[in-house]
Amino acid sequence: MTLTAGERARYQRHLALPEIGAAGQEKLKAARVLVVGAGGLGSPAALYLAAAGCGTLGLLDCDRVELSNLQRQVLFDSAKIGRPKAEAGGERLASLNPEIRVVAHALELKAANVCAVLADYDLVLDGSDRLSTRYLVNDACVIMQRPLVSAAIHRFEGQVMTYVPGRGPCYRCLFPEAADGVVANCAEAGVLGVLPGVLGTLQATEAIKLITGVGTPLLGRFLTYDALELSFREFRVQRRRDCAVCGETPMITEPRDQKASPPTAEPGVRRLTPQALATLLGPGAAAPPPLIDVRERWEFDTGHLPGAVNIPTSELPRRLGEIPRSGGPVFICRSGGRSLRACTMALEAGVASAANLEGGMLAWAAQIDPQMPVA
Ligand SMILES: [Zn+2]
Repeated sequence: MTLTAGERARYQRHLALPEIGAAGQEKLKAARVLVVGAGGLGSPAALYLAAAGCGTLGLLDCDRVELSNLQRQVLFDSAKIGRPKAEAGGERLASLNPEIRVVAHALELKAANVCAVLADYDLVLDGSDRLSTRYLVNDACVIMQRPLVSAAIHRFEGQVMTYVPGRGPCYRCLFPEAADGVVANCAEAGVLGVLPGVLGTLQATEAIKLITGVGTPLLGRFLTYDALELSFREFRVQRRRDCAVCGETPMITEPRDQKASPPTAEPGVRRLTPQALATLLGPGAAAPPPLIDVRERWEFDTGHLPGAVNIPTSELPRRLGEIPRSGGPVFICRSGGRSLRACTMALEAGVASAANLEGGMLAWAAQIDPQMPVA
């Protein structure tokens, strides 16, 4: 796709970069990128991709602009309150760069439509704040062999990773089940307005690199950002041979809707493997969950996870008030049975998103920390 005179003038600063030049700019013009979620992450990502001359830019969101969005969703201004985000955002992108084609998708991604939507795009950016969408988009990208740049934010921290088919781990390799605790609802947890600006811009950077072929993508690396410390950390991550979607014998061969857990419905207990909990507690993890150890005092004293609070099951009914109502508390016992019952009690008492450490401390000692004494 050759550039017009107008485009040559518009993208002059790109053309001046030997790494991009006319060839790279033509690749950008030919690229078709879908931005899932026109929120805090999607706003800067879409704005920069439009400005950069990404030839076809899809913007997908089923929500409408609310006043409380404007603190961070820079795609919108006050006049857009009440408008569908995909539509209002699309207009903004088209006015920023009339040379590109903007496609507004005012819909909710589901197993039934995700493949049809993705079929028209070569690359996907996910900035959705819904965990179910995050897994759906990941699975669809793996199945349809589309590169994916996925990001998430929480309070003052964010994370980003890039998936390229056949070249590295997918999101599900890192977080096998919906057991993250990282993708929390901004409305509940709060978020620093400028935070998604950093992460969304990183997503756009990755997209431009993948399209033009310059630089080294964030492959097999999980990047976290802490705005309070102003620090980035990077974790090497491996593709899991037993990954349910990109592994050697995948269980997920077509996109499927995840079990939604709206706060009004009776939510199920989240199941955490020792590995998933270790990731949540690892250095740089965005927000470690509260740990509630429900074993008897003497068992707890023998050995327990740092920071765990001991509430034996016998005392739980009268001490339910001590359990944090949010943050996805993780219940722990010796082998996972007592803690599962404790989870159920906590859920009934209104604790959101209670999780059970599957296999308990025995599994933790076997898989994560052989030095952990378990009575
Ligand atoms: Zn995978």
